Amino acid sequence: MARRTIISGNWKLNLSVAEGVDLANALKDSAAASEAEVVVFPTALSVACVADACTDSAVAVGVQNIYWEDAGAFTGEASAPLAKAAGCSWVLIGHSERRQYFGETDETVNKRLQATLNAGLKPMVCIGETLAEREAGNLEEVLSTQIKGAIGDLSADQLKELVIAYEPVWAIGTGVVATDEQAQDAHAFVRSVVAEVLGAEAADAMRILYGGSVKPDNAAGLLGKPDIDGALVGGASLKQDSFNGIIDAAAAASV
Ligand code: PEP
Repeated sequence: MARRTIISGNWKLNLSVAEGVDLANALKDSAAASEAEVVVFPTALSVACVADACTDSAVAVGVQNIYWEDAGAFTGEASAPLAKAAGCSWVLIGHSERRQYFGETDETVNKRLQATLNAGLKPMVCIGETLAEREAGNLEEVLSTQIKGAIGDLSADQLKELVIAYEPVWAIGTGVVATDEQAQDAHAFVRSVVAEVLGAEAADAMRILYGGSVKPDNAAGLLGKPDIDGALVGGASLKQDSFNGIIDAAAAASV
């Protein structure tokens, strides 16, 4: 099955409202010219203004995290319905920095995933192993546990819009990118676990993105692999030249 490439940018805790709007505006032309779907994840503070700037453009906008309750006495949180009202269409869930610094677990990933789907937003769930886990030979067990924990008892029908981002923790923000073969092997394994849980048809349709030190000069090789359906980009998504370069690389990889 042909799966539409996604090039997504996780801005993390970077860029002011004005800087985010400027960057989003600078991505519009390459997003419009690209076959790939382009998504940016600004900070919660700038998401509404960036979404407003992206109205009627080919750049979609998402939040980097949501709480699983819709509203109430949950100081400091943002919810999926509020993200939708602010113009978001995507939610990033379970990024390794949230697992590492903010106590995210497979159980809370599942709760956030359900809340995202209930609000009619598209979820991008991050998984990935640490270097110690890889070196100990636990790659497959870690990925399998994370996927099964995230999906929980949701059905293939409910998860039609789910996108998985495979992000080896050792490659995030380090400049050490997985080789094309390491990434392809992990993606093929992720797809096999999705097939085991949701069936072959759902696995074939699911988009699985690679994340971890993606740059314009390594993107085409990764995106050219059969089970790699796009990229989640951190550092290189913060500058228009490098992010546009990765959007362009998606076109190069698909010819
Ligand atoms: C990320 O934060 O999801 C990421 C992949 O970061 P970087 O591209 O900087 O490694």
